[in-house]
Amino acid sequence: MKLFTLPRSAAFDTLQNEAHKRILMLDGAMGTMIQAQKLDEDAFIGAGLPCDTDKPQRGNNDLLSITQPDVIERIHFDFAMAGADILETNTFSSTRIAQKDYGLETAVDALNEAAARVARRAADRAEAEDGRRRFVAGAVGPTTRTASLSPDVSNPGYRAVTFDDLRIAYGEQIRALIRGGADLILIETIFDTLNAKAAIFAAFEAFAEHGTRLPLMISGTITDASGRTLSGQTPTAFWYSVRHSRPFSIGLNCALGAEAMRPHVAEIAGAAPETLVCAYPNAGLPNAFGEYDESPEKTAAHLAGFASEGLLNMVGGCCGTTPEHIRAIADAVAPFAPREVKNV
Ligand SMILES: [Zn+2]
Repeated sequence: MKLFTLPRSAAFDTLQNEAHKRILMLDGAMGTMIQAQKLDEDAFIGAGLPCDTDKPQRGNNDLLSITQPDVIERIHFDFAMAGADILETNTFSSTRIAQKDYGLETAVDALNEAAARVARRAADRAEAEDGRRRFVAGAVGPTTRTASLSPDVSNPGYRAVTFDDLRIAYGEQIRALIRGGADLILIETIFDTLNAKAAIFAAFEAFAEHGTRLPLMISGTITDASGRTLSGQTPTAFWYSVRHSRPFSIGLNCALGAEAMRPHVAEIAGAAPETLVCAYPNAGLPNAFGEYDESPEKTAAHLAGFASEGLLNMVGGCCGTTPEHIRAIADAVAPFAPREVKNV
């Protein structure tokens, strides 16, 4: 595959031009916004499932793009009107690997296409409202398996999934996201870099078939105070593992709040001078009840600190962040120039 001779999509050039001028805004968390609706099993099933299964569906947030599209569209729209330029599709778990837990592994085409269309509708409505273009990022999560670690402590050589299983599952997801109208592909919450490499490979296979290269955003997650990903990499090692894909952005999301994420974002910003840097932390660390309670003002103040140090090109929020967080972050980073990028 001649990866970089493929023509870039029109949205790619538009986004890159915008990124020179200002810090681009991502949206906030879909998962915790859905949880706040306290939907029951009947609400999750809605008018009916996209395929037959007896498994309970409560908690299968991605299904709501099909069964409660108005709920998902409203969340996207609220984030767009709060200041997000880029809306992430409700597809974090929409691979056949992750959907197997819910018996919906044959419905991944429908899940991803529906989710991209719902986000697109919200993006277009927001643009009609205020004249500002919004973009849809097809969100690709880590799945429920790790390719580089064994889930069995007594058998360290065992793997519950292979690179090719992941490549095929991610390819299916990414093709459907593109069919549904995604402008970018966002591989996020990466805790195992080998999974991410399978997703990157699948994305380029899908771009080659599509005949156009979409912007690829890559976002890892540092899960604890050691400052490493679950598969053991420092932020710099993580960057060098994915650098070959020449991503539109590299960065971190989830796991830690903004304050604890800062040194890791600074490390990536130093290691990747040629690429945009993106950070979207959780609303602080979870409290004793597993809830995120950092105020919009506090999260925004931390991220304004990142921006004032010249670390940011793109920013948003992960778990626990609401439209109020996104509005506060957008206001707080607006006075600051985007981080300088070389040779983009
Ligand atoms: Zn998160």
